Amino acid sequence: MKSGIQEYLSYFVHSLFLSTKGFAVNTIKYNKKFYRVLGELEESQWYSLEQLKELQDTKLRKLIVHAYENVPYYNKLFKKHGIRPHDIQGTEDLKKIPLLSKEALRANPQDFIAANINRKLLAPGWTTGTTGAPINALRSRESITFENAVLWRQKRWAGIDVGCRKVAVWGTIWDHVIVPSSIKSPPFWRKNIADHQLLFSYYHMSDDTLPLYFKKIEEFGPDFIEGFPSTILTLSNFLKRQNEIFSVKSIFTSSEPLYDVHRNEIEERFKTKVFDHYGQAERVAAASDCPEHRGLHVHPEYGVLEIIKENRDASPGERGEIIGTGLNNYAMPLIRYSTGDIAQFATEPCPCGRKMPLLQSIDGRKADSIITPDGRVIPGGGLMGAFHGIENVKKSQIVQEDINNIIVRIVRNQNERGVETDRLISNLKKCIGEDVRIGIDITDSLADGDTIKHRWVVSKVKIDG
Ligand SMILES: [Zn+2]
Repeated sequence: MKSGIQEYLSYFVHSLFLSTKGFAVNTIKYNKKFYRVLGELEESQWYSLEQLKELQDTKLRKLIVHAYENVPYYNKLFKKHGIRPHDIQGTEDLKKIPLLSKEALRANPQDFIAANINRKLLAPGWTTGTTGAPINALRSRESITFENAVLWRQKRWAGIDVGCRKVAVWGTIWDHVIVPSSIKSPPFWRKNIADHQLLFSYYHMSDDTLPLYFKKIEEFGPDFIEGFPSTILTLSNFLKRQNEIFSVKSIFTSSEPLYDVHRNEIEERFKTKVFDHYGQAERVAAASDCPEHRGLHVHPEYGVLEIIKENRDASPGERGEIIGTGLNNYAMPLIRYSTGDIAQFATEPCPCGRKMPLLQSIDGRKADSIITPDGRVIPGGGLMGAFHGIENVKKSQIVQEDINNIIVRIVRNQNERGVETDRLISNLKKCIGEDVRIGIDITDSLADGDTIKHRWVVSKVKIDG
């Protein structure tokens, strides 16, 4: 695994690119408004229930008027159901508005874009949803700033502050693959100087490469490591096999369900606490672990989070589907959006004193990890990026049949147009590598688990440890 000139050239060129992009992104993520919002969020986290409701209702009323006046989908929907904007005075009135399904959003995303927004200033927010079909939920710059402040409120709960050094173990950033699978020699990381960040590739993690990862992380000395739960678990399983402990200040996880058993294993190996975060690419609601770790506090300033079971509000302790209404993205408002994720509200208040609602046992989309012939463990959720921009996919599922073979099952939209399968395979190979055969199976329905919570990536290969 000796590094060559080519690998180092790629490292310098790509790090320069990511850092330049990073400085541009920072003008949105860390501007004056960011510091103002973060200051406001520091205060509102200690609001009483009444104050939180007043804050949320005020934001909701403003959003509803905007959606009615500027968003074609909502203008038509409200008229069809005889809803006038002032009929929605608070969250309790939201029930007057029908739920929004992923299918309705995917069928006509243009209808959700506000007419009074400059489209050139919008950022993509790709998701493949629980059905594995790509949706691009566009985001305004203001909503990106706001979200960053919400994320930093949680980082501060863990004793971390803006400007610290961070390690992220991801596959892509801003839709760019951090290190393509075609690169076989180190470095398997890139620098984003703008964000004091070292970005590691989760496409290259194996028993051969992980010692280099840990050596580099130690050298860099981060305040925290962040990644998918499955990625951090791959790191912690490696430490376990080596009978080693690797101490870091904090670990942050997001984007996949984090199970208690995995949380415990990670905390034991990294000698720290894991701070989990729940959100979705559609950005309709968010919740985060506080220092008490009794569940995830919903951020009421970010979105209205309902838990619905059989068309009614689920009681505390009762599981139901998370329905979210994002309060900050005026570019593409999504009201009462069915996330497909399942959770329950806690029955007891959190001892930390915050009245922000507490979510427990969140179950989102599941995706197995893929294991490659050369021993790399790739988180299934990391293959999502390969579907960005691929049209006409109604549903999809990735099945690793054996160590050498992957089949991508696709249910197409009902129209004449095809799916760009060559582009999809090429995207997947950038993540997985060339040594696994990838076949496409266009089908009428997904064979197993053709339900809302099916596993998007299924691996029939057993992973040790
Ligand atoms: Zn708490």
